Amino acid sequence: MNAEIISIGTELLLGEVNDTNASYLASQLALLGANLRWITVVDDNMDRLVEVLGRAWKRSDLVLATGGLGPTQDDLTREAIAQMLNEDMKVSEPLLQNLKAMFAAMDRPMAATNSKQAALISSAQAIPNPRGTAPGWWVERDGRVAVAMPGPPAEMQRMWQREVMPRLQARIQGRVVMLRTLKCFGLSEAEAGETASQFGDWGNPSLGIYAGSDGVHLRMIARAASCDEAAEMIAGSEVRLRNMLATHIWGADDDTLEATVGKLLAERGLTLATMESCTGGLLGSMLTDVPGSSTYYRGGFVAYSDEAKVALGVDLRLIEQHGAVSSQTARAMADAACQGFGADIGLATTGVAGPDSVEDKLPGLAYIGISDRLGQNSVEGRYPPARLEVKRRVAIHALFVLRQRLLVH
Ligand code: ATP
Ligand code: MG
Repeated sequence: MNAEIISIGTELLLGEVNDTNASYLASQLALLGANLRWITVVDDNMDRLVEVLGRAWKRSDLVLATGGLGPTQDDLTREAIAQMLNEDMKVSEPLLQNLKAMFAAMDRPMAATNSKQAALISSAQAIPNPRGTAPGWWVERDGRVAVAMPGPPAEMQRMWQREVMPRLQARIQGRVVMLRTLKCFGLSEAEAGETASQFGDWGNPSLGIYAGSDGVHLRMIARAASCDEAAEMIAGSEVRLRNMLATHIWGADDDTLEATVGKLLAERGLTLATMESCTGGLLGSMLTDVPGSSTYYRGGFVAYSDEAKVALGVDLRLIEQHGAVSSQTARAMADAACQGFGADIGLATTGVAGPDSVEDKLPGLAYIGISDRLGQNSVEGRYPPARLEVKRRVAIHALFVLRQRLLVH
């Protein structure tokens, strides 16, 4: 099934709103096993809308449009579909009663312009939208389908999940698409690709390798006649990937590093404290993104200056001798965090976020320190020298270092 997405709205072309609807629908279409061929963004202009819709209708089996279903004059999607198919719009009495009831329930008067939201053409069925006033349109003619959904992402996603996707699934029965993502840290996309290519052909399941915000992602997509068959294909490939990349793979699918380390800490009954320099509190913020983190995360110091590090227990002589950005200081910081909070494990970050060098050390150099009953350790990291990117990557790297350490506890 060839599919096409049309995102409608002048605000998208002005760069005011990011077209997240298209990326959401693109990933959903991949799950369905549809072949997405085009994404078009078009403004709220009747002629251009009709042109873009007409082209899509001719070349694609499935057209998904979002936006322009509101009651105002610049909401033109319904009118454009009607014109493109040469059909007349008529207000549907049941839809109008529905709309009136919604306004009555909200205790708001209904403007006359709202009644166009109750209009249909003969090829269109209304798709319910409990989150907003505009129903969607399911348009079917000559074996083709076009779906018009509202622009607000929450309304659109609900309509997609509850109404549109199930109907499309029913149309392409007998084909199952299953996705599985393995998440790695500490190797590049190229290295992952090289390792994976040793298996030879990656036709089905196919393999995509992407740089995610938390490391490299390996995404397998299996297409099969049944769920069992697809699951078996994925499982076989997963075993092979895990055998070769075991030390790098830390999670799968929706796993996050902060939740992964949280689970390990909780399972082992261990507590954690942090002392952060170059990450400025980001590490603590990520750790506390996880519900229930208070059971294992005692707290953290943000010790940005040398004075703060010393006041919190780092030996001044270490800083003078090796510098604040050094493996020695990172270890001492981790130890001081441990002591300061009475925690089982201390984790610390110190580095040069940039853009300027510090202590003759180049931006992008950082050390992660860890201290626990097994002793103290530190790891050096080098990252592309863009300030916010360095902070983010050091925090992620620190979580990965912690994970590796927890595995031997
Ligand atoms: P409404 O009834 O709210 O007017 P609508 O279907 O007419 O709904 P639009 O007017 O096109 O939708 O868009 C409403 C809002 O939804 C936009 O201002 C924008 O914030 C968001 N939106 C629209 N299209 C997209 C998109 N492609 N990606 C992300 N957000 C979008
Ligand atoms: Mg609108």
